[in-house]
Amino acid sequence: MATAPQMEPELELKPRRLLIDGEWVNAVSGKTFETLNPATGKVLCEVAEADKADIDLAVRAARRALEAGPYPKMSASERGRLLWRVGELILKYGDELAWLETLDCGKPLGESRYADIPMAADVFQYFAGWATKIHGETVPVAGHYLNYTLREPVGVVGQIIPWNFPLLMAAWKLAPAIACGNTCVLKPAEQTPLTALRLGEIFAEVGMPPGVVNVVPGFGPTAGAALVAHPDVDKIAFTGEYITGQEIMRNAAGSLKKLSLELGGKSPNIVFGDCDLDRALQGVHGGIFFNQGEVCCAGSRLFLDQSVHDEFLDKLVKSSQSIKLGDPLQPDTTMGPLVSAEQKEKVLRYIGLGKTDGAKLLVGGEPHEGPGFFVKPTIFDEATNQMRVAREEIFGPVLTVIPFKDVDEVVALGNDTMYGLAGAVWTNDIRKAHYVAKKLKAGTVWINCYNVFDAASPFGGYRMSGFGRELGKHALELYTQVKSVWVNMN
Ligand code: ADP
Repeated sequence: MATAPQMEPELELKPRRLLIDGEWVNAVSGKTFETLNPATGKVLCEVAEADKADIDLAVRAARRALEAGPYPKMSASERGRLLWRVGELILKYGDELAWLETLDCGKPLGESRYADIPMAADVFQYFAGWATKIHGETVPVAGHYLNYTLREPVGVVGQIIPWNFPLLMAAWKLAPAIACGNTCVLKPAEQTPLTALRLGEIFAEVGMPPGVVNVVPGFGPTAGAALVAHPDVDKIAFTGEYITGQEIMRNAAGSLKKLSLELGGKSPNIVFGDCDLDRALQGVHGGIFFNQGEVCCAGSRLFLDQSVHDEFLDKLVKSSQSIKLGDPLQPDTTMGPLVSAEQKEKVLRYIGLGKTDGAKLLVGGEPHEGPGFFVKPTIFDEATNQMRVAREEIFGPVLTVIPFKDVDEVVALGNDTMYGLAGAVWTNDIRKAHYVAKKLKAGTVWINCYNVFDAASPFGGYRMSGFGRELGKHALELYTQVKSVWVNMN
């Protein structure tokens, strides 16, 4: 288990500034905001608050870096080497980054240390390899012409990320963008700006030219909206709620920006009676309780075969009661607080709705005593797919259990949602597994596993879970555009 560096958070965390054009600067307005430790509700530090004027400076810096100076002259292999080095430094500073991540967003230190941090490093190192492998093609056209394509960077990209995996989401956005030769303006979530800012320092340490990566914490309706509306931003990549995604589409329409949106989910986790129930138990438990349930692809709807209903739920309730809720810096803590007071209120509101709509509360359903934004792991049984707890994304440790009898019924129920981010099926019948995988309308389907990721495998949504695929070679599509060049050979 990771040990926290010997630092007293409230004493050690200094105010943070914006990273624009390689400089650490105050906001033009001079405004700052507080970022909190969600385990205590106390202020961690003041952070400079970007809004329209700062976004404009950051976009100008990104444009300059794209068109002049060392970056456009840099070879692809040099860009790749810098990305690789970013990955190395993330690993080198792993203890510190994990500690910072846990302080700022509340996830257990072991999860930060052994999931978020190494995965972020891996994403940089995976895309480091791609930098040298992005190229156009020659096309066999008719007539006396040579035709070839160039695969060029999109340009200046604005990237807006959420608070549930702050460093990892920064990696998902920055690594492919830079591999493709773009420059970036990254707006972290206002709840969790600290690791993205630390990442900015790492970019400086590896020698990335100024202006290639700008980090501008601020609020959505001000900094985020200004980035989306800015006429000199070529593309927005966003991860967050679908309602925000809709707002971003409207706001981006004025300049017809390219968009990629990774939005929410209400993913079905389907357990058939013929599966390995103990493994399914772990997968269902982790599917909803990992990261406090603050996961866009959380397995928040459990479709449970009636034949194993009682046995499975008995065990699931026991495993949820074994979760140790508490100070996420303590090594034996297995669930931390939710990210904010607002998120805690939202989750408790949904728990109230579950009760009034007639679902049966099996366990949890209340906040955890003491300071901080804790909500106990919660399971509702006897729910229907029509209840709001089964339809709306809660983004907390709340599982809704819906019974089923046969395959086509459960596929229809699983797909009866506006979302389509992910889903899972647990069965030992290979035909059934692949049948369900094909039928589910979702960007990711796990068979006999859950929440498995790799930098090489694409991730993104069907339907209202968004569009565009991050990770893997598919991410290169998001950050490049194709030019067709014709040569008259006559
Ligand atoms: P949540 O409500 O869970 O915080 P959001 O979708 O609101 O999820 O936030 C995800 C990211 O989107 C954050 O960085 C946030 O600041 C940003 N954001 C929120 N509203 C807007 C907006 N109108 N335009 C651009 N970015 C926004």
